[in-house]
Amino acid sequence: MRPLRLWGVFSECTRLMDFLPIFMNLRGQECLLVGGGEVAARKAALLQQAGARVRVVSPELSGTLKEQAADGAIAYRQGSFEPSDLDGVTLAIAATDDTAVNRQVSELARARRLPVNVVDNPELCSFIVPSIIDRSPVQIAVSTGGTSPVLARLLRARLEAAIPSAYGRLATLVEGFRDKVKARFTNVNARRNFWEAVLQGKIAELVFAGKDEEARDALDKAVAEGIETDVGEVYLIGGGPGDPDLLTFRALRLMQQADVIVHDRLISKEVLDLSRRDAERIYVGKERDNHSVPQDQINQLLVDLAKQGKRVCRLKGGDPFVFGRGGEEIETLTANGVNFQVVPGITAALGTSAYAGIPLTHRDYSQSVVFVTGHLKDGSMNLNWKGLAQPNQTIVFYMGLKGLPVICQKLMEHGLPADLPIALVQQATTPRQRVFTGTLGTMPALIANEEIKPPTLIIVGNVVKLHDKLSWFRSEAMIAKGEH
Ligand code: SAH
Repeated sequence: MRPLRLWGVFSECTRLMDFLPIFMNLRGQECLLVGGGEVAARKAALLQQAGARVRVVSPELSGTLKEQAADGAIAYRQGSFEPSDLDGVTLAIAATDDTAVNRQVSELARARRLPVNVVDNPELCSFIVPSIIDRSPVQIAVSTGGTSPVLARLLRARLEAAIPSAYGRLATLVEGFRDKVKARFTNVNARRNFWEAVLQGKIAELVFAGKDEEARDALDKAVAEGIETDVGEVYLIGGGPGDPDLLTFRALRLMQQADVIVHDRLISKEVLDLSRRDAERIYVGKERDNHSVPQDQINQLLVDLAKQGKRVCRLKGGDPFVFGRGGEEIETLTANGVNFQVVPGITAALGTSAYAGIPLTHRDYSQSVVFVTGHLKDGSMNLNWKGLAQPNQTIVFYMGLKGLPVICQKLMEHGLPADLPIALVQQATTPRQRVFTGTLGTMPALIANEEIKPPTLIIVGNVVKLHDKLSWFRSEAMIAKGEH
């Protein structure tokens, strides 16, 4: 079986290209568009984006094209397609709903050796239009050879996600330095090494972080003095509440380029699995009341790693600036002159709210929301209970599982009713998610005999009533039990 399969792969690889991808300069060129509907309008827009002069032929025009004809943005001839419409054009596109007309445009254009495209009919095309990821001047074109426009679109979506939108700005910056760099490095290899260091290193990151001026200065300096390839930096990244789909594009990109990942217990395995495979991983997990690595040591570790020239991803659960001590970590970095950037993440309150179907605010129930820590210290919690126990307010407690009885007790003492709804959500957004609901009066007893796995979040307020109606996320446990 195996040799056969290999042969299959081999023959697939050697299949001829159906189309040769090329990028065509259409600036100032006349292009013919046959058709006046919405599809034609989209093609017209694309041609205009490439700087072409668009000539439209159609018995009538709809919406956008009509306006464009009126203000002269396109040249319009009212009527049916005629062979002379092809005179003087660089390429033609047929986008009518009349197959006979489309075929005629295709045949006549081909007879004149003019590139022609018929929308949604690859057989009549001498060229097809790819899905485009536009980071001008960087362009990425995706094609499935006309076999599946939907697949092309899906691929495009993936690439859109993986390629920072600032790539265009990076290319523009680099363009201005090409001659200088050529003059500086006459050796091709040295030049390539230089550009690789620029495009994968700190200078590129400066552009992605919106610091174009600094990037230009750094590039100037690099050309003059050579590039420092061993400058480390720290990415303080919010890894979200657990579901890897909730990472930001930037988080994912930086996780994949870091040399070291420093993570703690809150980071789910699914999220960690998305970081660079050959990156070194350092666990600085924290158990409650038992910090396995004290905070100041973590801060120092980040500094040391960066000073060794490493790109360090400090991956934190949720958002780094919400009960994440991210502020302390970067204070140490600043004090030691280490470069860093901060990437926000979905904090547990937002992830839990969405996945448990408990809106944090709602016109009928709650006009404000507060996030507080429910961490017990010496058996109590030093919180402004009066401020928390307000009507029409949602309270979200982080780190509150152990202190749950105290929380319920204190809120009732400060005037909240015993029948006020409360939810306790375990491992929100993951397949292990479980939601318990009750009231301030009943909750402690209700979960006393449950085996609850951290992390858990507590939401207090009338919004919890919406959970029954709005919950949509099905965890593995629920699916196994056949719950809907
Ligand atoms: N920086 C994090 C919070 C760190 S404090 C953030 O922005 O989310 C740790 C607390 O976060 C936990 O005790 C728990 O209350 C909460 N938490 C984090 N992830 C959670 C999850 N998936 N489900 C429920 N609570 C979570």
